[in-house]
Amino acid sequence: MRVLPGAVLGVLGGGQLGRMFVAAAQRMGYQVAVLDPAADNPAGRSADYTICADYDDEAALGRLADKCVAITTEFENIPAASLRRLSERCAVTPDARSVSIAQNRVLEKQFLRDNGFAVAPFAVIQQPSDHADQTITRLLPGILKVSQFGYDGKGQKSVNHQADLTAAYAQLSHPICVLEKFMPLQREISVVVARGSDGEIKNFPVAENQHVNGILDISIVPARIPPALAQQAQAVACRVAERLNYLGVLCVEFFVLQDDELLVNEIAPRPHNSGHYSIDACITSQFEQQVRTLCNLPLGETTQHSAAVMVNLLGELWQNGTPDWNVILQCTTAKLHLYGKTDARPGRKMGHFTVLGTDVDEALQQAILIKKQLQRH
Ligand code: ADP
Ligand code: MG
Repeated sequence: MRVLPGAVLGVLGGGQLGRMFVAAAQRMGYQVAVLDPAADNPAGRSADYTICADYDDEAALGRLADKCVAITTEFENIPAASLRRLSERCAVTPDARSVSIAQNRVLEKQFLRDNGFAVAPFAVIQQPSDHADQTITRLLPGILKVSQFGYDGKGQKSVNHQADLTAAYAQLSHPICVLEKFMPLQREISVVVARGSDGEIKNFPVAENQHVNGILDISIVPARIPPALAQQAQAVACRVAERLNYLGVLCVEFFVLQDDELLVNEIAPRPHNSGHYSIDACITSQFEQQVRTLCNLPLGETTQHSAAVMVNLLGELWQNGTPDWNVILQCTTAKLHLYGKTDARPGRKMGHFTVLGTDVDEALQQAILIKKQLQRH
């Protein structure tokens, strides 16, 4: 059944993704309730209702369910049990099963491999000493990643020699890890997909992503790759959503190897940083699409009307005080987004800006110029 404007929607998580969901939903006339453990959070500041509680607080989940017709998440580490509980009372997308696969690197990798998606060679590490020498050496040099709660390159350690594995495992101090072979990347790309309850599926254009210190720095859209490779990535992303029987918005991150070979890196059961360009550059944004899937509305057209380059604004930009926003504001094709966070810690995502253009090279030049000017202040 369609949920129409006026209804109250819920979102688990009060970060910037929640805030942009709130903005999209409110523009369409919905009210939004945000549940987050922190009293002051970016989404809560613009929401109609806020609940400050842990994600497994049963009484608080009950209050959220009392208020809302349909509930989504912006945070992938929501306990599956909480999503299941809410789904007894309201429509919940994505469902507990999809989220529990996407939030756990072991289940995620096994799901991808078992469904025929190409991934980097990996092994699950629970006891480094349990593994035969050959299993480990064929994965070196590699990256050891915690199975849960890693993000923005956190919870990862390089392992170059077999002797380093035990130390890296101890340093990560997480019982279950994945050792993944270090892949020679030509570039990284991602595709955001939305899938509705009747199986309707629409993907966004392919973003080309540049990371610095494991954190997304720039997304260039459309990605500068051959059309056939872009089509392949879009088809794979849709197939991932279908195989998961996924409802909602999903992002599939890919590695592109030297010979244009495509590997799935990871999946995020929510809108994604690399899809923020869609707010300014596409007919429908990834956040409106999240509202549409949650409310059983037809999916919006995802066509991109302008080339776009998105640049993240991380906490270190604030080291000499508030950045000079004039640098962005005076560019007539740039769109500034700030998330209302007050504590500018290094590496923290404080906002982003998107430069629009008629072609990506022009937008990229402009974006890099703005970025340099911001850093100079
Ligand atoms: P996160 O959850 O932190 O985004 P990822 O697994 O996506 O974790 O890793 C973050 C980044 O680290 C990737 O976007 C990529 O740049 C680099 N990286 C991760 N795994 C590999 C790998 N196997 N080979 C080469 N680079 C990698
Ligand atoms: Mg990633």
